[in-house]
Amino acid sequence: MLSLHGGHSGEFCEHASGTLRETIEAAATAELRVYGLTEHAPRSDARFLYDSERAKGYDVERLHEEFEAYSRESLRLQRHMRGSLEILRGFETEAVPASSYLESMLALRREHKFDYLVGSVHHVRDIPIDETPQHFREAVAACNGLEPLMERYFRLVEEMIRSVRPEIVGHLDLPKLHAPRGADLCTLKIRRAAEAAIEAAKANSCILDLNTAGWRKGLPEPFPSPWLVRLAVEAGVHFCFGDDSHAPSQVGYGLARARQYLLDHGVNSITALGLGQSGLERRQVPLEA
Ligand SMILES: [Zn+2]
Ligand SMILES: [Zn+2]
Repeated sequence: MLSLHGGHSGEFCEHASGTLRETIEAAATAELRVYGLTEHAPRSDARFLYDSERAKGYDVERLHEEFEAYSRESLRLQRHMRGSLEILRGFETEAVPASSYLESMLALRREHKFDYLVGSVHHVRDIPIDETPQHFREAVAACNGLEPLMERYFRLVEEMIRSVRPEIVGHLDLPKLHAPRGADLCTLKIRRAAEAAIEAAKANSCILDLNTAGWRKGLPEPFPSPWLVRLAVEAGVHFCFGDDSHAPSQVGYGLARARQYLLDHGVNSITALGLGQSGLERRQVPLEA
């Protein structure tokens, strides 16, 4: 098994716990073959600090310092583990400010020589949608309703894919985390916006993150939902697994269940990433035993 989205650690992320070394040790103990580290990109404006970060006195400078330290430590551990666990160094993008994030994300990738990116959208109208239910409600109000928020979210994902061109698209239907249970998140308008995002993923050879944090956070399903898995399958877009771990104890969480979930929805193989002789390579891995 493997995970290409996760490895957030308390060393470099305020809302995670444990050290990066402990996280990697957990991946080795779980006998994962490839473990992708994708710490959050530092946000560049104080208005995007999370409430929990503000409460602990974080500022933008500290986010950047911790990210630099993450870059160094992930490189050290990648080299240290060579031969026993394949570690990929990446980071998870932030699409804020919506008007100007592209250059900063590409610059981080270039400057730190990361192996790959997970492209994620965590903000709609520059308001965080997965941090707290309260902020999610503010984002819904700013969009004049849940359906327009979902449409806007998928359009932001599409734009992010077309501009950043990440190897992996993170948790494709993240807004469902705090959406009212039972709400219709698959209306015609939402579906059209989601289809456009999936087409963009296909056009840019992006892999979708089958992200087990949905289960971990109490949802009845992972990200993305079955209807989106079906759309991706129809479009010929591939999947990989992400545990989205924010603690060593979460490393590998739900991966066996995720494998069965994909099989149940018509996905018979995943596309993994790995480091070959000439850099990053894609590897088809069958899911059937
Ligand atoms: Zn996080
Ligand atoms: Zn995320």
